[in-house]
Amino acid sequence: MKSTAIRCSACGQEAFLVREPVFKGLKKAGETLKCSACGHVYPREADVPFVEADRVPDLFSPEDRGEKPDLFSDDKPRFCRHCVHYVANPFRQWCGLHRRDVQATDTCPSFAPGQGDG
Ligand SMILES: [Zn+2]
Repeated sequence: MKSTAIRCSACGQEAFLVREPVFKGLKKAGETLKCSACGHVYPREADVPFVEADRVPDLFSPEDRGEKPDLFSDDKPRFCRHCVHYVANPFRQWCGLHRRDVQATDTCPSFAPGQGDG
C-alpha cells in the first residue's frame, strides 16, 4: 500500500491524504485529494506533499506490539459479567439466579453464557 502520509502545505501538519472518488454521472471521473487535518484539496497528485516513507512516524512502535493480556479472546472466561443471570446497574452487580451481589469477574458453576459484548 502506498503511503498516504503528507506534510500538508496548507496547514503544515503531518496528516493523511484522503482520497475521495469523484463521479460524473455514474462514471468515476477521478479523485479529490484532501488533507485529513484541514481538508485542503490538492488539484493533482503531483501537488501532494507526501512524506517520505522513512520519515513517517512509526505509529506502532515495537513496545506497543508486545504481549497483551488476552482479554478479548473468543474463549470467554466464565465470569459473571458474561452470564445471562448477571444484572449490572450503577449501584450494584447482581446475580439473578442466586439473588445475591456478585462481582463482574466472579466465576460460578451455574454460569450460562449470554452477554456477548465481552
Ligand atoms: Zn492540511
